[in-house]
Amino acid sequence: MRPAELLDRLRAELTAALAPPACLACRVPLADARAELCVGCRRALPWLAGPCCARCGVPEPCGARCPAAEQAFERAWAPLAHDGPARRLVAALKFGGALPVARLMAAQIAASAPPELLAGATLVPVPLHPARRRARGFDQAALIAAALADRTGLPLAACLRREGEATRQLGAGRDARRAAAARQRLRVRGAPPPHALLVDDVCTTGATFDACASALRAAGTRHVAALSYARALSR
Ligand SMILES: [Zn+2]
Ligand SMILES: [Zn+2]
Repeated sequence: MRPAELLDRLRAELTAALAPPACLACRVPLADARAELCVGCRRALPWLAGPCCARCGVPEPCGARCPAAEQAFERAWAPLAHDGPARRLVAALKFGGALPVARLMAAQIAASAPPELLAGATLVPVPLHPARRRARGFDQAALIAAALADRTGLPLAACLRREGEATRQLGAGRDARRAAAARQRLRVRGAPPPHALLVDDVCTTGATFDACASALRAAGTRHVAALSYARALSR
């Protein structure tokens, strides 16, 4: 990170820390600093509480053909739809006050994740391209994974790296090409964990998880599952 970017980032975190307590999703002032979310946002959180496809994690039925059927992870799971306050929290993670948002996300994940998803797993954050990370100053997936490791005691291994040219994010409907491109650019550093749980902020098509899971499997990981804070449901 360049010094100017680091300063911007520190300034944003400091402003957020010193500001009067506000809802982490909508910034409405809060009477209780420990509340984190206002009543309205708390009630409007779009939990994926009903029956969900065991493979792709979207509410059943996931379609005539499960979108994860040919992807390299065993299952994908998310506690929330990428909508309403959950969508605002994902956006808030990119601005000031990122650490409290990551801790709140980790608490919500830990409270609702199926125990068998977490048992015995090593958390592996989905990597940002180093150039993009430098531009943004930090990495949301790494923040969520670190907060989740703190909360659950699960080990964390940031063993995936993106290499080569950073490319522009392509639009929906091009996931196959994106997956192929992403696979070429992912490298595993060191010995990968035998049982990996990929962590990201949002899962859209599963193509990024697929590329990460392929790279881990090629390097010797036996079991790969995928966890995102939010799941985009419009396809
Ligand atoms: Zn709110
Ligand atoms: Zn499915």
